[in-house]
Amino acid sequence: MIKVMAERGERDRAFRGKTYSLFGSGAGTEKYYSTVKNLADLFLLRCPDEKRLLLQVRRAGEKEPLFKKRGKGEADPSLISFIKNSLRHALPEYTAGVAGHLRELPPAKRFDDTLTTREEQYHLFMIEIELVNRMYRGPFRKCDFKIALLPHCLRDFRPQCRMVQGDIDAVCRGCTEDCFINLGSLLLKKYGISPYISVERDQESLFRKLKNEHPRIGALGIACIPELARGMRLCIRLGIPPVGIPLDANRCARWMKEAGESSFALKELEELIR
Ligand code: SF4
Repeated sequence: MIKVMAERGERDRAFRGKTYSLFGSGAGTEKYYSTVKNLADLFLLRCPDEKRLLLQVRRAGEKEPLFKKRGKGEADPSLISFIKNSLRHALPEYTAGVAGHLRELPPAKRFDDTLTTREEQYHLFMIEIELVNRMYRGPFRKCDFKIALLPHCLRDFRPQCRMVQGDIDAVCRGCTEDCFINLGSLLLKKYGISPYISVERDQESLFRKLKNEHPRIGALGIACIPELARGMRLCIRLGIPPVGIPLDANRCARWMKEAGESSFALKELEELIR
């Protein structure tokens, strides 16, 4: 049943986002996922310690010159340069809208960390998400209580959404079969993960509260690339094993003048949680 749903979910909609699209120049996202997985494999050949590699990927995105950083783990300039060069060759196809978006960004929005994400940082976040998934998939699966947060822009825009407030955040009521939130929620429930539609804005307070109530909690996020990478960092800092799948494109009202619906790779989600 889930297979049929996944096929229906992978319907022919190569969404273009404001800054990025995992469809690149094609009609599917498979090439994106295989490219990112191959890059992660390549970097792990140079640096087999996943934790150290993740640290270097994060250091590569820091604005302050590497030689000025102290006490946050030693930077490896040669590895960082290799990572950046490899990403520059392999990933621009997926981030074609970043330069135009940054040029047009109004001054009032230039202090927003998410909206001002640079193209190179998108590429580093893509690798970071892949590495975090590899590192935390096992710990996430062992958690006693697992939740997933899905963004409301994944809903089917045609019907009036009938989501209601649940115990932690909003929940889907399954009003239409063709809705990505409904499809994702059914898949998540099959693997014992409680799905919620993310409406709560203060996620740090939410996660702190949940960690107090459920010490062995794991979190799965579906979000645009900058939000997902930052959400994963927050969870790691709070001792919550995170995993996640990026939205295929960033199209919500935060990015676009007129919000458009989005999608994510249901097959990748099932691979991650099965
Ligand atoms: S299926 Fe769920 S998320 Fe989608 S429109 Fe209906 S209630 Fe909203």
